Amino acid sequence: MATAEIKLQKPEFVNEPFVDFTKAENKAAMEAALKKVASEFGREYPMYIGGQEVKTAEKMKSTNPSHPSQVIGIVESASAEQARQAIESAHAYFDTWKRVPAEKRAGALFRAAEIIRQRKFEISALICCEVGKSWIEADADTAETIDFLEFYGREMLRLAGPHKVTPYQNERNFMVYIPLGAGAAIPPWNFPAAIATGMTAAALVAGNTVVLKPSEESPVIAAKMVEILYEAGIPKPALQFVTGLGEVAGDALVKHPKTRFIAFTGSKDVGLLISEAAGKRQPGQLWIKRAVLEMGGKDATIVDEEADVDAAVEGVALAAFGYQGQKCSACSRAIVSEKMYDTFVQKLVERAKKVTVGPAEDPGNYMGPVVSETALNGILNYIEVGKKEGKVVTGGGRAPGDGYFVQPTVIADVAPNARVAQEEIFGPVLAVIKARDFDHALEIANGTEFGLTGAVYSKNKAKLEKAEEVFHVGNLYLNRKCTGAMVGAHPFGGFNMSGTDSKTGGKDYLLHFLQAKSIAEKV
Ligand code: NAD
Repeated sequence: MATAEIKLQKPEFVNEPFVDFTKAENKAAMEAALKKVASEFGREYPMYIGGQEVKTAEKMKSTNPSHPSQVIGIVESASAEQARQAIESAHAYFDTWKRVPAEKRAGALFRAAEIIRQRKFEISALICCEVGKSWIEADADTAETIDFLEFYGREMLRLAGPHKVTPYQNERNFMVYIPLGAGAAIPPWNFPAAIATGMTAAALVAGNTVVLKPSEESPVIAAKMVEILYEAGIPKPALQFVTGLGEVAGDALVKHPKTRFIAFTGSKDVGLLISEAAGKRQPGQLWIKRAVLEMGGKDATIVDEEADVDAAVEGVALAAFGYQGQKCSACSRAIVSEKMYDTFVQKLVERAKKVTVGPAEDPGNYMGPVVSETALNGILNYIEVGKKEGKVVTGGGRAPGDGYFVQPTVIADVAPNARVAQEEIFGPVLAVIKARDFDHALEIANGTEFGLTGAVYSKNKAKLEKAEEVFHVGNLYLNRKCTGAMVGAHPFGGFNMSGTDSKTGGKDYLLHFLQAKSIAEKV
């Protein structure tokens, strides 16, 4: 009954509106938040294992990629043993947490959403400083965090309680969804609030206990999210928080026999390692681990000869250079009909030259830094490869400043099978590939191991319909850019080496953290 009451009280899900920074009061609020966040730089954030604060002798530093000497926070570096303790504590608390009614668990998510709404500017400011997102990108991350909490809370209310099945003679029969157990949430840094919170909250609201091990690049934002979830009513033993190296703490979580599921978002290589490790039964392990793996992309935009070329240029530029190309959905290949090719490249170069690059806290910069020195070097290496595989028509190196700044780079005349057209670069580097015609463009678009997002620009209905059928990606966008998936509106996840297509922010997502129990009573 309580579930039904809450269902009635909760209005239908709507996306959190974005902040309009052209308004003076919002600009002032963000500037004040940046100052507040800066006043907390260097603070230490503990781990939480078994409900207790835990510190380690060894620490890790999280720094600001716009100003690498700035230390955002100090976090603990968990040993494999501490990670194992965390999963064991989560396992021990599962019996308690799973009995908490679904509407109470959902209530905690709704409260967390409200706390984040109240502290929106502060959280966006921290995202801006810890991972180098522009104001607009940071605000979108914060809004998506709120959306995941609101959406998954509602989804749990929908999934809670008995579900009708086909009636059968002389039986009272029904089905319920029950949680899985204790699991690990292992997110990346590129949506440091939204993905870390989304995966964790989905598993928790479904009645599971969780060990969250955030990325080494964004532990402070994760620590803030954990503090908010506790404040909102998630008991500490239901959510363990472990910071540390992926190959140490993450690996121990994945391999522990008491780990029932792993929710991972990150690179293809690590995703495949986890898939393999999770598939191996450990001594004492009672179940087949469930691995929800969301991985990389080599996302393409097809620009047909019948496209609105200006719209296509704008869509490609935003999707290729927004957050410095560090989105799994970023456009890293533009596949352009030969009849449109020269015009498109010329206009794109003009557009890319207008992209401003510099410290993320300055709203005048469209692009901030890439996340780390390692990322910077990897991207610069790919640009060198690209210089041999095609022609750099704009960008092609570092941008000025102490931070990890890279110029928006366009490499034209790239062959479909070139490395820069096949491998995920995860930076502001776009390969432009010429296609003979629309069918050839689709063939090139499908010609990688990935299948995450894709976009098509064309005014020809028949071609768009063909793309709907043939373009093999989890998220296809027609006459719009391939980034910017909204919770609820664009359930997100990819095919092939882009992952297990779990469709975050969609109505199927919570089912990954539940199992169905079918009950029939003879009457
Ligand atoms: P990553 O694979 O390097 O790290 C992801 C997480 O895995 C981190 O928390 C890391 O500490 C952990 N990890 C590393 N090694 C591990 C191991 N051996 N065992 C267990 N855990 C381990 O990825 P990243 O650089 O943080 O993120 C960028 C990648 O994420 C890109 O490939 C991007 O496309 C992908 N991504 C995908 C999606 C999606 O929805 N498909 C969304 C965002 C990012």
